[in-house]
Amino acid sequence: MPTLLQISQLGHPILRRKAREVENVSDPAIQALIDDMIHTCQDVDGVGIAAPQVYQQLRLFIIASKPSPCYPNAPYMEPMAIINPVITFTSEEKEKDWEGCLSIPGIRGLVPRHKMVMVSFTNRNCEQEEKIFDGFIARVFQHEYDHIDGIVFLDRADSKDLIMEKEYQKIIQAMPKR
Ligand code: ZN
Repeated sequence: MPTLLQISQLGHPILRRKAREVENVSDPAIQALIDDMIHTCQDVDGVGIAAPQVYQQLRLFIIASKPSPCYPNAPYMEPMAIINPVITFTSEEKEKDWEGCLSIPGIRGLVPRHKMVMVSFTNRNCEQEEKIFDGFIARVFQHEYDHIDGIVFLDRADSKDLIMEKEYQKIIQAMPKR
């Protein structure tokens, strides 16, 4: 049975450190960590979670986009473990959209992100993958990638684009459903 993990909160130094590469993806401890991170992410209705958010200083994160009360228009995907990722290309075009973070509860921000990213990474079966993500999944990828470099979404948002959860709820309730 996977374990629910504690989520580090903004102010804990691990969220500001650059994480190190995962050396052995097939290590049972890494495989268990991936299962626990997926379980924890689903439990809190998140769309992604990075290892530093569960107190592990590793270049590993989960992306798990799905529609939820916070992101009603998010596309559905199977949770995917991204290990030792490299962003190989980014579209010049950026767009602003809403983000939140499990480590920064209560605050939402409009964050500019590249519309499209080309990435390479190791998957949990130790295979090398190259993928192109765009839109919301590209956004989640860039948000989680920032975590493994010690960056949080607040660093990328204009302070005038930050709002509290209560106000965000009003905005998404007024948002047209796609
Ligand atoms: Zn986050």
